[in-house]
Amino acid sequence: SLSATALAKEKIYVGTNAEFPPFEYLEKGEITGFDIELMNEMGKVLDAEVKVQDMAFDGLLPALQMKKVDVVIAGMTATEERKKTVAFTQPYYTASQVIIVKEGDNSIKSFDDLKGKRVGVMLGFTGDTVVSEIEGVKVERFNAAYAGIMALKADKVDAVVLDSEPAKNYVKQNAGLKIAEAVAAQEEYAIALRKNDKELLEKIEKALAEVKANGTYDKLLEKYFN
Ligand code: GLN
Repeated sequence: SLSATALAKEKIYVGTNAEFPPFEYLEKGEITGFDIELMNEMGKVLDAEVKVQDMAFDGLLPALQMKKVDVVIAGMTATEERKKTVAFTQPYYTASQVIIVKEGDNSIKSFDDLKGKRVGVMLGFTGDTVVSEIEGVKVERFNAAYAGIMALKADKVDAVVLDSEPAKNYVKQNAGLKIAEAVAAQEEYAIALRKNDKELLEKIEKALAEVKANGTYDKLLEKYFN
């Protein structure tokens, strides 16, 4: 006969930061978004139950290392710096950093035009790195994208640098803002796991390949980005 353990579904503990619409956000108190639905679809492929925990963005990789979660999906860019400490799957989304300004501001045509400006970034995001590398920028760091947007509206900063999809979301919801016509810095989002967790990494890679092959991934792209 089947034992209880044989019947129990495997659980995959996932960490995210639900402040990054449309990738992850709260809707009526529930965590949802492109990343979350993608993860749930991957759970179906693996016949596993996906358990998602919401935490601060800069706490995600520490939580992974401390085994509070086993997988991180959070619109997280697979940077060389992060690759030193964690493993990333194949990329699942090509994103870019854009510059948000006040509607009447036509002074920013490139990232170099941020020189001499007060620029809001989110602490530890790739936008922070991109802006910090430009000399002469007065970088203002915020804990959440929404706080940066509020500072821009209140003229406390001249621009905010953020990933394009969340940027579009915030511009839509806040009158008087626009995305500057500057060439964006590209990056790739991927799912992070512990380097030594080879077995789970292999499963997640397989599941990601499967949802890309079976049309589920395309349906989610259509739902969230078209
Ligand atoms: N893509 C950015 C990064 O990896 C922002 C991610 C996020 O805020 N969820 O730093």
